Amino acid sequence: MQKGNIGITTENIFPIIKKYLYSDHEIFLRELISNAVDATQKLKTLSSVGEHKGELGDLTIRISIDKKKKTLTISDKGIGMTDEEIDKYINQIAFSGANDFLEKYKDDANAIIGHFGLGFYSSFMVSEKVDIVTKSYKEGSKAVKWSCDGSPEYTIKEVKKADRGTDIILHIDDDNKQFLEDAEVEKLLKKYCSFLPVEVAFGKEKEWKDGKEVELDKDRIINDTNPLWIRKPAEIKDEDYNKFYSDLYPMAEEPLFNIHLNVDYPFNLTGILYFPKLKNNVEVQKNKIQLFSNQVYVTDSVEGIVPEFLTLLHGVIDSPDIPLNVSRSYLQSDSNVKKISNHITKKVADRLEDIFKKDRKTFEEKWDDLKIFIEYGMLSDEKFYDRAKKFALLKNVDGKYFTFDEYIEIIKANQTDKDKQLVYLYTTSELDQHSYIDAAKSKGYDVLLMDGQLDIHVVNQLEQKFENSRFVRVDSDIAEKLIPKDEKMELKLSDTQKEDLTTIFSSQVSAQDKANFIVTFEALSENDVPVMITQQEFMRRMKEMNEMGGGGGMNFYGELPDSYNLVVNGNHSLIQRIAEDEEKETGEKVSSLRMKVKSLESKKEKLEKAKEGKKEEEITQSEKDELEDLTKKITDLNEKKDAELKKFALDYKLVSQLIDLALLSNNMLKGQALTKFVKRSIDLI
Ligand code: ADP
Repeated sequence: MQKGNIGITTENIFPIIKKYLYSDHEIFLRELISNAVDATQKLKTLSSVGEHKGELGDLTIRISIDKKKKTLTISDKGIGMTDEEIDKYINQIAFSGANDFLEKYKDDANAIIGHFGLGFYSSFMVSEKVDIVTKSYKEGSKAVKWSCDGSPEYTIKEVKKADRGTDIILHIDDDNKQFLEDAEVEKLLKKYCSFLPVEVAFGKEKEWKDGKEVELDKDRIINDTNPLWIRKPAEIKDEDYNKFYSDLYPMAEEPLFNIHLNVDYPFNLTGILYFPKLKNNVEVQKNKIQLFSNQVYVTDSVEGIVPEFLTLLHGVIDSPDIPLNVSRSYLQSDSNVKKISNHITKKVADRLEDIFKKDRKTFEEKWDDLKIFIEYGMLSDEKFYDRAKKFALLKNVDGKYFTFDEYIEIIKANQTDKDKQLVYLYTTSELDQHSYIDAAKSKGYDVLLMDGQLDIHVVNQLEQKFENSRFVRVDSDIAEKLIPKDEKMELKLSDTQKEDLTTIFSSQVSAQDKANFIVTFEALSENDVPVMITQQEFMRRMKEMNEMGGGGGMNFYGELPDSYNLVVNGNHSLIQRIAEDEEKETGEKVSSLRMKVKSLESKKEKLEKAKEGKKEEEITQSEKDELEDLTKKITDLNEKKDAELKKFALDYKLVSQLIDLALLSNNMLKGQALTKFVKRSIDLI
């Protein structure tokens, strides 16, 4: 027997490994099995070039647990190692500046292991002692056993071993007993080894016999050595893709599309990405893209490798150019990784365009589910926008789909305003904005349905991208004014009627909380509604962006009350009737008050004129008093006049009724106000 010290510059690496790497203990298994796979594949290569002359035999890698001896063993039939090779590859792990590096990356086990090539040594994270029993494929080799108990001291001696290959025997320590449980090991094997290119056996196949589960004399292979993504797309059917998907994500719904990636220049990458069918809101995704390196599972946090908007996709990516042990900071700076990201974006766009061109019908059918991905991509990635603008669709309220270019042709004739701007009308809710959609349609306008989670942002983006165009929500103005054109109707109300009706309507509309209403008049046709409510497009959008948290510094708008226009159609017969009845009912009183106000106002005006050229000290006290007196009188008279009008409005049920109808069709009549409306409606009937 021979003894020696492992060649490292730090006094003792194992406490460091144990101390720093606690969070990722489980990766030891991936590391050891990867080594076994490498050793097996090296042997296959040697055999294929004639370097190894003997039989390859059964190359299965076997994982076994001995509960009594507290060991976990990984056995391969690969190239094995001679005692010199053990010395070279296992004993001489030399590195410098280890402590500094470990301190810096103490939370990132992958970085540490990757940096030092400590694959094998990760076994000490879970073991109090590790044995390597190995016999090289080289003719005449003797088997050796290397043992180390976690101190820098190791022993090495000759042993008997029948077969070529390596057994790594881990004497699991007390803190890591879970790795002696079948279920735990099986879980890790599933996670890291499901698609390894060499068969991995764990336990035996089982069968139900006479109500009992019995073990058969057949190894249970836990992996698929020929996973779908490394096979040729031409040989794969849709069912195969879907089956693979449901193997990966057993609970998920059938995906919308898949994209088979197969790149060998300038880097190596294979994989299959799926557009999943997401539930209505973008849920926090449990089913993530899995990243592999030569069929070894690496991680499912692919940020940095896949562009952010594609992290919503599912599937697998396999690239040997992405190192097995990678740290986040490394990924972000690596130019290869950036290239991969760009390439994936391009591939995804190409595939979508392809489906769009070849099978527009299917593309349209799936658009509602697909659009969240595409919109997310267009919003977050300029390059993707430029590709996607060819196949991104707009959907109108009749359920028809158009490309951006097609839609211009649809609306050009009828929806160009007097300043030659193209006006895109849209609704965010077919239910809530129904009456406005109807009004717009009756003018021959087309209305887009923009009710997706990202559509507010999309509207803003398209408005910036499309030249000479703007987007207007259908309820942001009366149909006549949504797209201002040159023709204009005449308002059939006098100025005093307008003044009185303003008081009458504003006195009855104040009940809504947190909202301001401004009464305005429009000359609409007899057939339009008498009263409606609109909200200014700009203000509403700012508030919406603010709510979604996308507005940045736009908090300002969030704090303002909602501001609406109460639009009164002065040409409607009901409005005419209110104006006439008001004149009849309040006649004398209001008009005489108005006369008084008028004459006082003209007096006041004269006084103010006289004051104008004078300096402050030239104005006499009596002049000041008189002006003050006049102002007060005017205010009093106005208040009296308003009180009369309010009284009229309160008794005259039609006013509240028309306001409530307008609120109702805007989905704003709720609670007590709604109850009152129902009662009043019955009274009126
Ligand atoms: P890495 O695999 O990154 O080189 P490791 O510490 O895991 O680092 O392994 C060091 C070396 O030991 C390997 O490169 C290989 O030459 C040798 N080795 C490890 N495990 C085996 C094995 N099961 N069979 C043959 N050689 C092995």
